Amino acid sequence: MSAPIPQGVLREAVIDAGAIEHNVRTLRATAGTREFIAVVKADGYGHGALAAAKAAVRGGATRIGVSDVDEALALRDAGIDAPLLAWLHAPDIDFSRAVAADVQLGISSLDQLARAARAGSAEHRPVVHLKVETGLGRNGAAPEAWPALFAEASRLEQAGQLRVDGVFSHLSGTSRDHDLAQAGVFTDAVARAEAAGLRPGLRHLAATAAAIDLPEARFDAVRVGLGIYGLSPFEGRSSAALGLRPAMTLRTRIAAVRRVGAGHGASYGYTYRAAADTTFALVPLGYADGIPRQASGRGSVRIGGRRFPVAGRIAMDQFVVDVGELPVRVGDQAVLFGDPLTGAPAVEDWADAAGTINYEIVTRVGSRVPRTVVR
Ligand SMILES: *Cc1c(COP(=O)(O)O)cnc(C)c1O
Repeated sequence: MSAPIPQGVLREAVIDAGAIEHNVRTLRATAGTREFIAVVKADGYGHGALAAAKAAVRGGATRIGVSDVDEALALRDAGIDAPLLAWLHAPDIDFSRAVAADVQLGISSLDQLARAARAGSAEHRPVVHLKVETGLGRNGAAPEAWPALFAEASRLEQAGQLRVDGVFSHLSGTSRDHDLAQAGVFTDAVARAEAAGLRPGLRHLAATAAAIDLPEARFDAVRVGLGIYGLSPFEGRSSAALGLRPAMTLRTRIAAVRRVGAGHGASYGYTYRAAADTTFALVPLGYADGIPRQASGRGSVRIGGRRFPVAGRIAMDQFVVDVGELPVRVGDQAVLFGDPLTGAPAVEDWADAAGTINYEIVTRVGSRVPRTVVR
């Protein structure tokens, strides 16, 4: 990240594709599963879905997971040819385009199963992964719906109308014991699917946290999102402690500096006032760019090797920092977050400042911030 911000660029998120590659390689080795599903939903957790998917495949991901079909189709259109899986669907969805693009479908209900079967053609047989509810309380077929779902899936498979490649579920991460209980319910679901005549080759349950910490949840594949971006799902355990490298650096340049007298207020409502004569520096990133307003007065930025807290309120496009007597100049680089090993604030520092989690901080970086992909 030593290369300067390119001329004329106001703000950027630098995405280290090599870090994503490294993280996938590391997590794949940790999980030790036959397959590795890299999750790049929500525009790759804000990193850019295409760049993330490409880097993940280079790092050894065998499949790509997204939330919805449109995300999958965008990746397919952009040239990603790895198997793609999408699992959250509009109630009245028509799966034809997905099936024509060989996008595999997470299926939670008989209605979705019927829609998948209808979307097949001579050249494209729908491939589905049956999603079972094991306790998270979101989608997935509940245990009482398993007999009908598995029987119908088996019938459609034998009729050549679709193929069932996998069975999956998602953990709540509430406690180790509860995750283990969910894994037990999951094992039961797989046994029932097999008893119904299905041979789901890919059983997958674990996301990042369980891929790292719960071998009992690994099965044939893990579905890893947060970790591939180099972030830790565990409070109190850093990326570095997990051997991961944060892939996003959010940075900008000081857009203005101003000498002010003691008592001068900063930003709307003057929730901050200078204690003495000082210099205010203007950081041109705001809540439109995903910098949470809740972090007003609490988040911090690195400028010239030092950390400065946000002074006053974060506005839509900008916020102020009080740099005291330090010789900060217009054009100096300001890093909001990056790899803490480089001295940058961590994504988690902003998450703590805003009362949220690292997932939300990176995912909400706005569309106005260009992503610059480096290796
Ligand atoms: C988002 C998501 C994941 C990835 O979760 P991480 O905690 O980011 O690894 C895996 N599976 C499902 C169903 C998801 O929605």
